[in-house]
Amino acid sequence: MTIPIGELPAERPWPDDVWCHLACTTCEQLFRLSAETYRGRGGVLEQIAS
Ligand SMILES: [Zn+2]
Repeated sequence: MTIPIGELPAERPWPDDVWCHLACTTCEQLFRLSAETYRGRGGVLEQIAS
């Protein structure tokens, strides 16, 4: 299960994966950051095609 990081509950258990969207303040390019809560590694930052 993957949910937006803004919807992450304060208390565990958390879903295995969370994500959020980031925007560069200079060029406004959008990125999606995915993170795995279970193992604490394996995060991915990927550019979103504009
Ligand atoms: Zn930029």
